[in-house]
Amino acid sequence: MLGVSALPRALYLPGDHVRMENARGLRTRLCPSCKEITPHRTLYVKARSGGKTRWFQLFWACEKCGSLNHIVLPNYTLQRASSPLPTALATGVVNALQEGPLDVDELIMRLRKRQMPGVRHVFNSDVAMVLEFLKGRGVVAEERKDRTARVLEALTESSTKSGRLGPCPAELAKGIERRGLVSVYAQRRDPSRRTRLNVVGVLCPSCQYHRIGTH
Ligand SMILES: [Zn+2]
Ligand SMILES: [Zn+2]
Repeated sequence: MLGVSALPRALYLPGDHVRMENARGLRTRLCPSCKEITPHRTLYVKARSGGKTRWFQLFWACEKCGSLNHIVLPNYTLQRASSPLPTALATGVVNALQEGPLDVDELIMRLRKRQMPGVRHVFNSDVAMVLEFLKGRGVVAEERKDRTARVLEALTESSTKSGRLGPCPAELAKGIERRGLVSVYAQRRDPSRRTRLNVVGVLCPSCQYHRIGTH
């Protein structure tokens, strides 16, 4: 049975995410509903994990049509130990994956917190190169994982816990009475460079009923 512990493990401050998002050019993406490149924003939910309140990315929301899109990221698993590794960064990647599979964002955040000899800054492009190399050698395996599905599943499993706003209208209409709604947050565009997450709407993790504002 999944609990909140099944949520993605590496959780980072929204500020870190903004930088990564910009660096990776993900502010605009192909919206499956609009069928064109549109600006997107990341929606977050808050959940308690290990006694702390933490933020989880939930959807990419299209700012034009409001569609909620799943966040699907490559996930890496260590297949076998390999020696020798060519660089300190490659060693760092293998060491990080020794603790369990990680998606690419989680891996990069883990590497940025680590001290690696001779590595002053962990660049996304360098990590991508190392991963290609390790994949080519059969050291790591890549698989695409739906982060949104993991978060929704964990939130549904923990639906009896606190932090619920009220009953889901879609479920109430079917005679199901439980407090299922959670708040959904997005970053406020703040010229002062301080990152803030503001409530932008509500979501029912079980049936995905939602009401989300555009600003
Ligand atoms: Zn759209
Ligand atoms: Zn519902």
